[in-house]
Amino acid sequence: MKLFDVYPLYDVTPTRAKDVYVYDDKGIEYLDLYGGHAVISIGHGHDLYLEFLTNQMREIGFYSNAIKNPLQNELANAIGEQSLCHDYQLFMCSSGAEANENALKLASFVTGKKRIIAFKNAFHGRTSAAVAATDNASINAPLNEQQKVTFLPFNDEKVLEIELKKGDVCAVIFEAIQGVGGLDEPLEGFVYAMDKLCKANNTCLIADEVQSGFSRTGTFFAYQKYNIKPHIIAMAKGMGNGFPVGGILVNSSIKAKYGMLGTTFGGNHLACTASLAVLKVLKKQRLQENAENLGKYFKENAKNIPNVKKIKGRGLMLGLEFDFEVSSLRKELIYNKHIFTGGSSNKNLLRILPPLTLQKKHFDIFFQRLKEALKAINA
Ligand code: PLP
Repeated sequence: MKLFDVYPLYDVTPTRAKDVYVYDDKGIEYLDLYGGHAVISIGHGHDLYLEFLTNQMREIGFYSNAIKNPLQNELANAIGEQSLCHDYQLFMCSSGAEANENALKLASFVTGKKRIIAFKNAFHGRTSAAVAATDNASINAPLNEQQKVTFLPFNDEKVLEIELKKGDVCAVIFEAIQGVGGLDEPLEGFVYAMDKLCKANNTCLIADEVQSGFSRTGTFFAYQKYNIKPHIIAMAKGMGNGFPVGGILVNSSIKAKYGMLGTTFGGNHLACTASLAVLKVLKKQRLQENAENLGKYFKENAKNIPNVKKIKGRGLMLGLEFDFEVSSLRKELIYNKHIFTGGSSNKNLLRILPPLTLQKKHFDIFFQRLKEALKAINA
């Protein structure tokens, strides 16, 4: 049987990986500055992660959400402690799109309204409401047009106020640092305005932390650069270090009702264990602090790279914007310099999303090989 061919593929076949390195079927070592789309948080094949998951697998891997699973409570407490989001409740699912889907649905339940406000260049996933709130017509099917979504630019408080005052908006969903869109961020004043306007207009503010959450940006969640309290926070990617796990944190002002949300796979024993291992390693190895420091190191050193127009992002969610399209540079980096990097909907932007265990020496290797790659593609 053939695969349903929806992904253009790079011609590399990884067969094993350790920490920040991936090895292909020919034994070639690649420096992983992409973490499989920001998923690898504590490094590939971390010993504690392997130990936790292997032990859990031997005990029980899965059972129904209709039966008690104390690992979910343990995880809720651990997330609360590490994120400092104490007055929130945890609902678990299995992916980023699902987290946003549940967040949007919940916002609609609690406000009784149905229009969504999202932002230009936003990416929130590929399922029903999540894809409708994604600013990319080419991945929306006619079916997805049933959702009412208004896309606004970041930083225009007036237009946001006009839309919210119409009284039909259930949720404003935003990324504190846009991922797929290309690392743009709203201004601080606009973030506070969003928070205030949502509260004044009975609208839920949803922070999509699917890519930026779990310590990647130097704070536990990227929105925590500001003193705001979103109603709902969506999480996934780095939460499981490759095990499919997602979830939402729901502010305690929102009351749960039986049947409101549900899932078969979400929050199973293995998913909870994967995420508990991630939290333990993040804390023990002080990876949030490492992300913050390395982000600064990267920004300082990236200034010396020729052709760089802008250095974007923070922590280990970074982007280099060039004065040309980067697809041939990415190919040169993978095939000849053996470094994985990412692209974005901004075709001039190279995305850097490594495991949070990265060290300065790895960025030194990157800058050296990047300079060589730039020379090679310009030759
Ligand atoms: N939200 C953001 C900010 C993302 O970057 C992504 C994936 O790239 C998603 C949601 C969707 O996550 P998933 O692919 O796990 O459904």
